[in-house]
Amino acid sequence: MIYHDVIVVGSGLAGQRAALEAIGHDIDVAIVSKLKPMNSHSVLAQGGINIAIDDLDRTNYFEDTVKGSDYLADQDSVEILVNDSKIQIEFIENIDKIFDRDNDGEYSTKKFGGAITPRTLRASDSTGFSILNILYDQILNSKVRIYEDYQVLKLLTNNNQIVGFLGLNYNSINSNSIELFSCKSLILATGPSGYVFSNTTNSSSCTGDGIALAVSAGAKLKDMEFIQFHPTSLVDSNILITEAARAKGAYLLNANGERFMKNYAPEQLELAPRDIISRSMINEIIEGRSFSDRNEPYFHLSFTHFEEEFIKNNFNDIQTISTEFANTDITKDNLKIIPAQHYFMGGISINNFAETNIKGLFAAGECACVSVHGANRLGGNSLLECIVFGQIAGKHAAIHAKNSNKIPIIDEESHISIFYKELTNRFTNSSSSNNLDISSLRNDMRSIMTNYAGIIRDEDNINFGLKKIHNMKNLISSNQFRSRSSNPSISEISEFFELSFMLELSEIILLSALTRNESRGAHFRSDYSSRNDNDWLKHIIIQKINSSYDISYLSVRTTTLNPDIRNY
Ligand SMILES: Cc1cc2nc3c(=O)[nH]c(=O)nc-3n(C[C@H](O)[C@H](O)[C@H](O)COP(=O)(O)OP(=O)(O)OC[C@H]3O[C@@H](n4cnc5c(N)ncnc54)[C@H](O)[C@@H]3O)c2cc1C
Repeated sequence: MIYHDVIVVGSGLAGQRAALEAIGHDIDVAIVSKLKPMNSHSVLAQGGINIAIDDLDRTNYFEDTVKGSDYLADQDSVEILVNDSKIQIEFIENIDKIFDRDNDGEYSTKKFGGAITPRTLRASDSTGFSILNILYDQILNSKVRIYEDYQVLKLLTNNNQIVGFLGLNYNSINSNSIELFSCKSLILATGPSGYVFSNTTNSSSCTGDGIALAVSAGAKLKDMEFIQFHPTSLVDSNILITEAARAKGAYLLNANGERFMKNYAPEQLELAPRDIISRSMINEIIEGRSFSDRNEPYFHLSFTHFEEEFIKNNFNDIQTISTEFANTDITKDNLKIIPAQHYFMGGISINNFAETNIKGLFAAGECACVSVHGANRLGGNSLLECIVFGQIAGKHAAIHAKNSNKIPIIDEESHISIFYKELTNRFTNSSSSNNLDISSLRNDMRSIMTNYAGIIRDEDNINFGLKKIHNMKNLISSNQFRSRSSNPSISEISEFFELSFMLELSEIILLSALTRNESRGAHFRSDYSSRNDNDWLKHIIIQKINSSYDISYLSVRTTTLNPDIRNY
């Protein structure tokens, strides 16, 4: 058994910030990660990170975030995000001055979607990578122990207290690939879950492990129906074209050559929040104003109104992506783009100390929901949430561990042998035609979610999607998976768990979407097309009790801003 006082699962921005904070409390800290730290998804964030520029901007930033969230964000949590933004960004800047500055030495800021003033900082076109690089350097120079290529498969609890987990060692060369870890405090920082959808900007590692692990251990989830679709991903590949493009003046055009956002957000146009732009695009498709000469409808993102020199100096990264992945020279031609799944606003329910309802279990980053994004996240707010609430999670996990004097005692042998037995029963290398194939089931699940839990939803479609997911779960429980040998390989075990995690999430997303009979932020129900504050200004909480899902509600915490009409 491997023991550490505090273990952080995940080595992205939230996980590394948490570990760095925890080690500062003079305690034994480890990171366990299925990816190598610098391969974590955070490195893909090119757009930027928000900061409250000055005292006046604190109020503006708070109001933009709450309005952007369609008033579902908890306002005391947003205050923490906004008030801590400067401290956390200066923590990074004090190590290395990575953020772009003007000639006079002040931060160079861009105005992102839903913001009334420019407050997004960039570190060239690699903001996520640059911040993570700085943190990783600090981690490597600290006493934090890193277990990379380890995937957590099951959390272990005792009397509603976290005691440890079972992890799969990808590098194991013998049959003992499952290892038991124990700890006093555990922080889940497992990142995005977007691979549940087939049209996503997220990579194949984003399989929602942390959220599924937490709910199976009895943790509560919050607002799982709110899925953000980013308006500008490349057709076919769904590679993201960052919001920074529109922040610097790129246009969206429909098939009539119109800047159609003037009809939906006359003031902010292409810089309206993402939920509004993505939904406007779907409306343009329904009303026949999208391009339709390919398998899927699409729109144009135009840079051709800029001088070539301006494009070269300002959109270097986008120029490279467009040439390599869309065979398009943006100085001459428009880019073909379409909305794609991008971000989960919901996740593991935490309070302002990053605590879950399980003692010793904390969460931070994209897998957590505190909630600062409510029904819709503003660009640049996720990286900030990772460092603000990552630091908070690290601090409170360290305090919890210091205050718990007993190291958990776990019967390692029996946990591992029962786990192996259950696992091997799920696989067979016999040649029956009933044997299941992980990758084809995964593809089916991803299409179901894209078709029935997308930008526009209604009761019949959600129910249809739920039925299909239930059928798939029944199929899995009554059949075995095909294995290449008598014992499943490490990659087969990993893929099997990732599929199980994603199926769990799919069911919960659909269930939450079915429950919320209104339209708010990224959740649009064509059968309940208005926001309904009287009945629905509340969070949906889901908890697994005896293998069924219990649904309850939590009031939204409002401090200063009452819900209002959301015009842009
Ligand atoms: C293309 C793209 C661009 C973006 N641009 C921006 C931007 O400009 N600004 C912004 O604010 N936000 C942006 N976002 C969102 C933002 O990047 C993410 O929400 C954020 O980086 C997530 O960080 P994280 O630490 O929560 O997760 P990650 O960085 O994804 O890290 C998750 C970690 O968990 C580990 N892990 C997962 N499951 C397991 C398991 N079972 N066992 C062990 N380890 C596990 C992984 O190995 C990984 O290390 C972007 C997102 C995408 C997809």
